[in-house]
Formats: sequence, structure tokens, C-alpha cells
Amino acid sequence: MYQALYRKWRSRTFSEMVGQEAVIRTLRHQVASGRIAHAYLFCGSHGIGKTSAAKIMARAINCLHPVDGDPCMECESCRALMENASLDVFEMDAASNSRVEEIRDLLEKVEYPPQNGKYKVYIIDEVHMLSNAAFNALLKTLEEPPSYMVFILATTEPQKLPSTILSRCQRFDFGRLTEEQMINRMKTAIPELAEAEPGALELIARSADGSMRDAWSLLDTCMGSGEKLTEKLVRETLGAADSSVLFELADTLASGNGTQALNEIDEIMRAGCDVQVFLRDFGAHVRTVTAFKLGARSAEEMTGANAQRYREQSEQISLPRLMRMLELAMQAEADTRYAASPRSVLELFALRACRMTEGEDVQALADRVEELSHQLSLLQKNGVVVQTAAPAQNPEKKDEKKEKKPAPVPQKQTARVPGADAQTPAGKRPADVWNAALKRLAKEAVAVYAIVNQGRYGGYADGTYRLTFAPDAGISRDYVNKQERKEMFERLLTEEGGEEAHFEAVMEGDKSMDTRSKQDYDERLLIETLGRDKVQIDND
Ligand SMILES: [Zn+2]
Repeated sequence: MYQALYRKWRSRTFSEMVGQEAVIRTLRHQVASGRIAHAYLFCGSHGIGKTSAAKIMARAINCLHPVDGDPCMECESCRALMENASLDVFEMDAASNSRVEEIRDLLEKVEYPPQNGKYKVYIIDEVHMLSNAAFNALLKTLEEPPSYMVFILATTEPQKLPSTILSRCQRFDFGRLTEEQMINRMKTAIPELAEAEPGALELIARSADGSMRDAWSLLDTCMGSGEKLTEKLVRETLGAADSSVLFELADTLASGNGTQALNEIDEIMRAGCDVQVFLRDFGAHVRTVTAFKLGARSAEEMTGANAQRYREQSEQISLPRLMRMLELAMQAEADTRYAASPRSVLELFALRACRMTEGEDVQALADRVEELSHQLSLLQKNGVVVQTAAPAQNPEKKDEKKEKKPAPVPQKQTARVPGADAQTPAGKRPADVWNAALKRLAKEAVAVYAIVNQGRYGGYADGTYRLTFAPDAGISRDYVNKQERKEMFERLLTEEGGEEAHFEAVMEGDKSMDTRSKQDYDERLLIETLGRDKVQIDND
């Protein structure tokens, strides 16, 4: 007879159980020492072993020869319970029997002592589904339980239980299983899986999202075809995307390249992925990357082949962007349920995720700032050294002086502007040359022109044209002074003036323009974004 894998491979003893080590250790100890509570509450998401543990506990406390707190599986009681033939263990699913009559029927039998074993055990699944009247009936029994009575209540939503019930139970929280735990369990249970592609089992474990029961049923579906278990087969069966596709799309969305994102989605659709499955997978992917970003325990425990890739991606994408992607993916997944064209939902999701934020609210700005500082930290990784220490050459003092009390324009320069400015050696008016070159700049490089236009013509002397910027426009000055831009403008000035021309942008009243203009634009950007006192540039 066919038996679903999750029933077939349900753990029979505590030692067979996957994960939940702390819970299992305590339960085994209680069995071994005979200190059994009257009411247990097993909490945690579905498919992680609550009901299995309850059944094992029921057998263990009734076992005639328990081994280290585990049921022996051989004695009369164990055998009877394995065949569901005992009158001493009752199971009830509150999801389908939530009415007070049903719980009363169950509780009526409490009066009679166990027939075979030592304890009468009531296992109530999804106990939070009971009606209020049913809770009250249960509570009465819990208040004065007969010595042989043990309740094991299981729930996915303990917060829905009345505090009167909670306070009478010994509570155990069951955690989600790691992918590795699930893979090991599958391999131990079914030796042929040693032949399966490792990627196939990883994909099943990831899709199961911490639930062993889901892993079994996915495995069941994938093995139904009788073919060898390959990653490709699993992906096709689940309608899931290749994990590398998830990494790529996350990178693309983070880079903000909408066109590329749409191209990738096109490929994903051609590969036959289901939109909703894909969005769920993508959400899970981003959650995992976020876990790595935050150094969460679930991430640290991860060992599979992808762990390193997750770590790398988490270093590349800022936290606000990850949060935004996750939020949008969850919203889109919900939207697909009602959408006439799920593909449009996916495309819209991608385009939204490419834009960092919507609206100009404070959170958006805060996110933008964090995004910027993240970009700066990447820049820093690529060679620019930043330290949070006082600047080596003590420019603080200089800046302070300059900002509070701008130095007078050097005499040399003031004298030069009206006098030497009159004519170039080639016999042209420098201001005319300047304006002509500026016009050409507007045509050839509008971005540079826009910045140059923020400054003003600062005069001409000895073949050099100057552009002056206000004291707070250091970024603009350095942008224009960058070698390739400087050379381009010099070429225009040379051509318009008919003689070799030089160019430099300076700050108003800046004496040390030569040394300061050497600073790299990126370094200046760092200083002006993070604050002068936070940054020290090492030029080696
Ligand atoms: Zn036994």
C-alpha cells in the first residue's frame, strides 16, 4: 500500500528526530527520571516535529523498558501504540473538532484510569482552534488532573491561547529545521538518495522552508516520476528557478538597471517558471541575503555550496535596498493571486525594486543616505583608504579659518584681473576666448559645462585661465580639475585663443590651490559626505 513519505518516515523515537536538540534532551530526561508534567505545550511552525514528538513522548512514558528516555519499540505497550491499538492515548485535531461537545466527549474519559500503560495521554493538535467553551472545559481538567493524566497540546499560534491555559503548561518551542538537517534526514531515511544530485536535495530543503513535512511531500512529488533525482528534475517539478538566476536578478535590481531586469525576467519566463513560485523563491533569497547581512544565526549555521555566494551578495547590497526588495516581493507575491497577468506583476515588481525608493518621505531620504554611505564603503574597498581619525595634515584648522572668515582675495590675483587680462599674447581678449570655449563646452560635454557654469570666470595670467568657485563648492572644483576634463577644456581654450592655454579651477580666496586641487574627486566626495572630522585620506 502506498504511504506518503512524511508518514512513512515520521520519527519513531527521540533519537530519530531531526533538530530540536534542546527540547528532546529535556523530554528524554523527564522520561528517564520519571518527572512527567501533566500538561505540555509544543509550539512552532507546521511540519517541524511537534506531533511526532508528542507521539514519541506518549510511547516513552508508557514504555515498560525505556532506553535513555526513548521508547524501546519492543515492549507490549510500544507495539500496541505503534499499531494505534491502545486505549490510553488519544489524538484530536482541534482544527476539525473545535466545538465544546467534542472536547467534552474526550474529557469524559479522563475519569477512567489507563488500561494498559501508566499514563493516559491526550494529544490535541492545533489547540488554539478550540472554542472558548471548549477551552473552559479543558481548563477544568487541567486545574485538577488525575495523577495518570498527561496532556500534550500542540500549536502553531501560542499567542492565541488563553493565559489560563498557558500558565498550566510546560512550554517547549520547536525551531525550524536547517537545510542541512533536512538533507541529512532525507539521506539517512532513504539510502538511494546518496546517488541524487546534491543540488536536488538542497533545492527541496530550501523550498521546504524549515518544515520537514513539506520536504517529505516535495520529495514525494519529485520521486513520483521514478527518474533519477536531479536538480533539473526538481526545478521543473517545483516550477522553481535556478538559484543562480535569483543571485543575478538581485544584483541587477540593486544596480537599478531596469532594462536588464526585464531581460532577465523574460528568460525566467521562457524557462517555464511559475511567477508566484518565483516571487516566493526570490523573497526567500532576499531574506537569506539579509540574514547574512545582519549576521543572523540562521546564516552563520548555513554551510551549503551557496553560503559563500550569499555572503558575497550581502556585502554588495545595502540593507535598506534589501528590505525594500523583500517588501516589494512579498507584496507582488500577494498581488499575483488576483492578477490577470502575473507576468506584469513580476515586471512591475522588478521596475519598482530598481528604483531605490518611492516618494520623498523622510524614510526614503534616510534610506538614500544609507545607500550612499554603502556606496562609499564599496569605494573605500576599491582602494580609497578612510579612517575615522583626525586628518594627518590638520586641514581642520585651515578649513575652519576659511569657512568662518574667508581670506581676502590674494593681491596678486586682484591686480592681475583688470591689468594682465586685457590681451593675450595672440592678441585676443581673454574673456572672449573664455566665452567661446564655454559655448563649445556646452555642445561637447554638457555635464561638465553645467558644473563649470556654477563657478565664475576668474581671470587670465601667463597663459592660464582660472575658474573660481564659492568656498563650499569643493566637489565642483575637483570635478572640473579632474585630468580628462581639465585637458578637454584646455584644448578648447587653446583652439579658441590660438595659443597654448592652461586651465585651473580654484576656490575663492584659496591660496593653496595647487596642492588642494590634486585631491581626488572621490576622496573629496567622501570627506564632504561623511564630514571632515570623520575622514583621513592616505594617499599611498
Ligand atoms: Zn517499550
